[in-house]
Amino acid sequence: MEFLPFTRPSVDESTIAAVGAVLRSGWLTTGPKCKELEAALSARAGGRPVRLVNSATAALEFALRIAGVGRGDEVITTSLSWVATANVILAVGATPVFVDIDPITRLIDLELIESAITSKTRAIIPVDLAGLPVDRDRLYEIAWSHGLRVIEDAAQSQGANWHGVEIGAAGDLVAMSFHPNKNMTTGEGGCLVMHDEAEAQLFEKLRLQGVTRDADGTYDCDLLGGKANLTDIGAAIGLGQLHHLDENNQRRAELAGLYFQRLALTDFILPPADFEQSNWHMFQVLLPQELASQRPVLIRLLKEASIGSGVHYPAIHTTSLYRQLGWRAGDLPHTESVAARILTLPLFPQMQDADVDRVCDALLIALKQLRS
Ligand SMILES: *Cc1c(COP(=O)(O)O)cnc(C)c1O
Repeated sequence: MEFLPFTRPSVDESTIAAVGAVLRSGWLTTGPKCKELEAALSARAGGRPVRLVNSATAALEFALRIAGVGRGDEVITTSLSWVATANVILAVGATPVFVDIDPITRLIDLELIESAITSKTRAIIPVDLAGLPVDRDRLYEIAWSHGLRVIEDAAQSQGANWHGVEIGAAGDLVAMSFHPNKNMTTGEGGCLVMHDEAEAQLFEKLRLQGVTRDADGTYDCDLLGGKANLTDIGAAIGLGQLHHLDENNQRRAELAGLYFQRLALTDFILPPADFEQSNWHMFQVLLPQELASQRPVLIRLLKEASIGSGVHYPAIHTTSLYRQLGWRAGDLPHTESVAARILTLPLFPQMQDADVDRVCDALLIALKQLRS
């Protein structure tokens, strides 16, 4: 049987042709295609300025720098995320402060934020894990009342919305990822949604050596920037992807609905059934508590049935680097419990309905084996 990965990007023929056209054009690096994609993303973000980079990691790091976060500052975030979410805080010299998750939504528990705020807290980085949006009303109520910046790690939430407002169209700084596993891709890439042209100009400097070009062909360099600009090759992929984002997210929601039907009466713990706001970036179940230690066996049994699955994510604070910084197992009980039991099942737009049946059949057979 053909292997079913947990995700796979779908790139149509017209996108492949558009990439070919860029390759033939003689202009491969940042150019007209990047401008076009930035404009298209900005249109979806209610006209707010959007700038591209070669990863969401770079977008998040530059966002922290734009927000003035640096040495001695603290940033509150979640530990149930891709490690980039916290690494960028370290990269600017600040200290990540993890608060626990809500075990039902698996998102940062907003009610724990206020007790984690100190005189050093400057910002919050929430994560829309699996594309399920963090409660933006409560988030900003807390942030504004304490004078904190918010850098939304919306790496997984392209096309998701909060009460009908697309992610990126409101809020403070919003970073998205266009890694191939995300709901739209540029090969590798990311972007930041900002408030105004002043922030956008600073972002442009940060992504390319701190340089501002003058009309006379010279340039000035007035800060230490990086090298994180996107290519027009990537932007051509992104334009083709953006064209299908809504229909692809719709298909993801349909497939998620099938998972709910098939897994409703099983011992697997399902995610919140949000068919209004989530973009269903991932479909993640939790193993029942008593089978937590059996997850590697379950993953192996699925693999033997030609089915891919994933662990998103090991808790960041339990990785070696963060343990060296003083974090310990036991610090975040809900995060650790969910991280130990979470399993990402195959979900991508080109999957067939029958693929969901195949995954669920294999899961239930495996569960019986684990219990016998
Ligand atoms: C993918 C991801 C990132 C990083 O995105 P890159 O484009 O790979 O740098 C950051 N945070 C979360 C939650 C992600 O899923």
